[in-house]
Amino acid sequence: MPIVNRVADLHAEITAWRRDIHAHPELQYDVHRTAASVADKLKSFGCDEVVTGIGRTGVVGVIRGRKDGGKVVGLRADMDALPIEEATNLAYKSTVPGKMHACGHDGHTAMLLGAAKYLADTRNFAGTAVMIFQPAEEGGAGAKAMLRDGLLDRFGIQEVFGMHNYPGMPVGEFAIRPGPMMASTDSILINLEGKGTHAAFPHMGVDTVLVGAQIVNALQSIVARNVDPLDAAVISITVFQAGEADNVIPQYAKLRGTVRCLSAKVREQLRERVREVVEGTARLHGATANLTYRSGYPILVNDEGRTAFAASIADEIAGKDKVNRDAPPLMGAEDFAYMLEERPGAFIYVGNGDSAMLHHPAYDFNDDAIPVGTSYWVRLAETALAG
Ligand SMILES: [Zn+2]
Ligand SMILES: [Zn+2]
Repeated sequence: MPIVNRVADLHAEITAWRRDIHAHPELQYDVHRTAASVADKLKSFGCDEVVTGIGRTGVVGVIRGRKDGGKVVGLRADMDALPIEEATNLAYKSTVPGKMHACGHDGHTAMLLGAAKYLADTRNFAGTAVMIFQPAEEGGAGAKAMLRDGLLDRFGIQEVFGMHNYPGMPVGEFAIRPGPMMASTDSILINLEGKGTHAAFPHMGVDTVLVGAQIVNALQSIVARNVDPLDAAVISITVFQAGEADNVIPQYAKLRGTVRCLSAKVREQLRERVREVVEGTARLHGATANLTYRSGYPILVNDEGRTAFAASIADEIAGKDKVNRDAPPLMGAEDFAYMLEERPGAFIYVGNGDSAMLHHPAYDFNDDAIPVGTSYWVRLAETALAG
């Protein structure tokens, strides 16, 4: 496997960084220790510019090539952990109760740092590589916060690339696809009001438990009977809270859930139908429903040309037979989608081997993937910026 030689030499050092980040997980925008350590390292590598505080705690490292001309390419990693109690016996296990790196962002950050070290050292390219370290990927839209702070214009970024590890796919393999690859994720909150009453006299009230149950059922008819069967959509009600006692029909109920899909057309259809079904079902039973529909992460759409380019880099690292160019789209979401809405680019999966699933308490990023992911980053930068 043509792992870049100098990257192979950095394997132990990058692994040590990864394990240090793993032992000190931080959530959302509170990635102060991680961001400070990233900024220190970028400075020590000799990056031309290191800027902190973009998107609150995001960090950017700018590396200019030594050849003339060339464009500006952004490479992005995420730094945040999850509110999960780690269930491993690793020597570098989380030292913070209730927090852990269960999505491998420790590995993503370490690999991009490794690439920064290599690129700052060699600068064998034209143009500029912008290393982007974002906070709050896990539900906090850290990518959007960095965009709002002018990330793309400030550094003149023309293309963006991202990477995520993928449990179950062997180390040394990649997967990617052009077009929609991950889902939009919108959230719904339904506050139901009926009429509370004694449970022995249901006819005297309006039962929000029954109405809520009807709503849960009716929402599934949207996926089954309104959305084209050849389009993907998920509606999951994940919270249903009502009542306190056996003998009371509750006046209020609260439901929450997630709505996901892979096309703008379906996203609009879901938004309309969810409102009609929730409000209509409540009205039918004499209750009222107050629906809050919040737009979350956009659909992650890979640019066709940049996807072919990214796959060709993966081919170079892993070998053609180890790169799946037709990865099935997932209904999971990723806030790198915000960056891809603004600039063409591509998001790729790198194999994490036989590990626990993402967000599982026994998950661990596979350090064997470090040379693969880091080599991908450096070859991608050197090729995109060949001049
Ligand atoms: Zn995650
Ligand atoms: Zn993740």
